[in-house]
Amino acid sequence: MTDIFEKKYALVITNVAVNGKPVDIFIDDTGTIAGIGDNERTKHKGEAEFIIDGDGAIALPGLVNTHTHAAMTLLRGYADDMVLQDWLSQKIWPLEAHLKGDDVYWGTRLACTEMIRSGTTAFNDMYFFMEDTARAVEESGIRAVLSYGFIDLFDAGKREQEIKATQNLASHIRNLKNPRIKAAVGPHAIYTVSKEGLEWCAEFAREHKTGIHIHLSETEKEVNDCIARYGKRPVALLEEYGILTPNTIAAHCCWLDKAECRFLGNYGVSVSHNPVSNMKLATNRAMPYPDLLDAGANICLGTDGCASNNNLDMFEEVKVAALLQKFYWNNPTVLPAPEALLMATANGAKALGFGTGTLTVGAPADIILASIHTTCNTPLHHATSNLVYSCNGGVVETTICDGRVLMLEREIPGEAALREGASRAAHDLVLRAQGS
Ligand SMILES: [Zn+2]
Repeated sequence: MTDIFEKKYALVITNVAVNGKPVDIFIDDTGTIAGIGDNERTKHKGEAEFIIDGDGAIALPGLVNTHTHAAMTLLRGYADDMVLQDWLSQKIWPLEAHLKGDDVYWGTRLACTEMIRSGTTAFNDMYFFMEDTARAVEESGIRAVLSYGFIDLFDAGKREQEIKATQNLASHIRNLKNPRIKAAVGPHAIYTVSKEGLEWCAEFAREHKTGIHIHLSETEKEVNDCIARYGKRPVALLEEYGILTPNTIAAHCCWLDKAECRFLGNYGVSVSHNPVSNMKLATNRAMPYPDLLDAGANICLGTDGCASNNNLDMFEEVKVAALLQKFYWNNPTVLPAPEALLMATANGAKALGFGTGTLTVGAPADIILASIHTTCNTPLHHATSNLVYSCNGGVVETTICDGRVLMLEREIPGEAALREGASRAAHDLVLRAQGS
């Protein structure tokens, strides 16, 4: 018997709810949504190789995680409840110093499994050993934009190494010729990368038409240090160095002033809001959603790495984003549920350049099915409200990316072996770090 998980097939999902109406969705064998309507199952009879019964499910576009460090799943629960600088210098960095390519592979396989399970079909990653990340993404079947975390620490010698690593990753990904995987440049942040490093990244992105992935104004200290060092605020600095482009994703953006929001909007920058990580590490300020919205910035969502979250569940992120914005602005009308869901779908897909993030004919078949036979969807007054405020990633029963079924009725093939491999890698990593 043919295995539905094996590759892309022409599929039809029958009787699934889209915008409150039961329809059939036909996916052709190129991985594109080729029909949505009343009777696609008869129209494409003979074409569809598999039928997925969508009765009792709501179809949504796959969620998009626009800022993470996937392999940090290995550090999940390793150190919590600490001050950011101590957490990094005493716990995270000493462990990361012992990372090997294989660890990153296993950490990313685990991350991809977790994302598929909770309905994410694309992510934006920045880390090290990114060739191993690419291998894991390729095997898992989801989409990713991958950047090497460029950190020169204002040292010319180190800069040369980072330039090489960035170039190597870009050519490695080009050679993969896999449309699900794209390269970006990843200047880590203004406090870890020199002017020369940032300018090189901007130039490389321009020349090779790649995205730029950077952390921006996560903490107040970052902004104050920037003013002391350069006499200007971070956004002005990035503008001067050519980092602000329509293909730039700036993560965090907690400590922006209004003028900076307007700059990001004018340059068409995508802003990745990471509310769980910001709350856990106590950044003491929420990304200014209303100001960025006024400025016309593309606002999307990310989980950040698993060490500061501690999961990759984008449903949770959507909920926390909506709650944090209301709480912070002392206004329950800020960031209503439909807008929060758009941040995780259409806006995220736009940021990564992976289609429209919508369920429309011609769009890539990145589709998830959320079960209505769950307590979180009972009763079903408003589906969007339930999905944002009462459900989490556990509501997802089927995940399809690029037309390929990656999870069906909560089954992901080989999941136990992947969990075991990642668990072994995490254990060995801690032993190596302790032995040094
Ligand atoms: Zn980050």
